[in-house]
Amino acid sequence: MVVILKNTSTEEQIGELLKWLGKFNVSTHFVEGTHQKIIGLIGDTTTIDIDDVAAKDCVESVRRVQEPYKNANRRFHPDNTVMDIGGRETGGGKLQVIAGPCSVETREQLITTAVAVKQAGATMLRGGAFKPRTSPYAFQGLGKEGIDILIEARKVTGLPIVTEIMDAKDLELFADVDVIQVGARNMQNFTLLKELGRCDKPVLLKRGLSATLQELLMSAEYIMSEGNSKVILCERGIRTYEPATRNTLDLSAVPLLHQKTHLPVCVDPSHATGIVSLVEPMALAAVAAGCDLLEIEVHNDPKNAWSDGAQQLTPAQFGETMKKIMSISGFVGKPLWNEVNK
Ligand code: PEP
Ligand code: MN
Repeated sequence: MVVILKNTSTEEQIGELLKWLGKFNVSTHFVEGTHQKIIGLIGDTTTIDIDDVAAKDCVESVRRVQEPYKNANRRFHPDNTVMDIGGRETGGGKLQVIAGPCSVETREQLITTAVAVKQAGATMLRGGAFKPRTSPYAFQGLGKEGIDILIEARKVTGLPIVTEIMDAKDLELFADVDVIQVGARNMQNFTLLKELGRCDKPVLLKRGLSATLQELLMSAEYIMSEGNSKVILCERGIRTYEPATRNTLDLSAVPLLHQKTHLPVCVDPSHATGIVSLVEPMALAAVAAGCDLLEIEVHNDPKNAWSDGAQQLTPAQFGETMKKIMSISGFVGKPLWNEVNK
């Protein structure tokens, strides 16, 4: 961290600032040039709030030269984080595809869809039991019953299950879930993130609607700083001025996140676009960009879906998409997990 001091700063002010900075576990270096006075901070500056430094009377500006996240930072953990999800190696050299409906609606709907996505090559099953809907009058999910149906679908298909938590008070209902999803709207629910940091389950953390990549990484840091290092980051589109798609898929996030962090990166082309015909091209582009996981919404009868009908693929469409995914995933160095572990 570099602190640039005002030309008018007095010796007394600088002394006080150095004393205050001394409380953090860093070494400080004061340099007085002809035109500028600066203080360089060396060491772990993650616990220093840049705004607190900037607020000091004698400070002109502050610049971080190191990221404010530590656990999620590739600089400190050069090797990729690889986690085991129901026997599936996630985050290494394999691609995982999570597929399933937006919401768990009925036992029949979920099991039919689960069997179909498994047959097409999906490696994990998704389905929302607690649904973050924009309208309080829209279907809110089956709650505990939805989780029970997911568990049954796992028994039938062997696919690990991924489902969203909205409130920390429901955590015990997720005891038998393989991956807990934190939705975009909860990316900065810090109480929830801390709670998930104290459990030992993989967390699929979705990027907030208007969150920067640094904010996403700081949210991962919340989970990791409590002890849970099994975090998967998910790009699911961000809100921009473009109304032609539900969100704007930020695909450059994939290689950029790989540079900044060792955590696995997932892409959700369904919520990113909101349009069935765009899901396949964006899924293929995400694989080409190097994602470790895809999360794709598939419904046995999208036209009659209780949520997100416009973006869910039919099992047949998903089957075609999977064929194309498999044909390029090996080429980019991340073959589908199923292809290598038949
Ligand atoms: C979902 O995956 O079910 C979901 C609601 O996605 P997001 O949080 O990305 O909107
Ligand atoms: Mn959905």
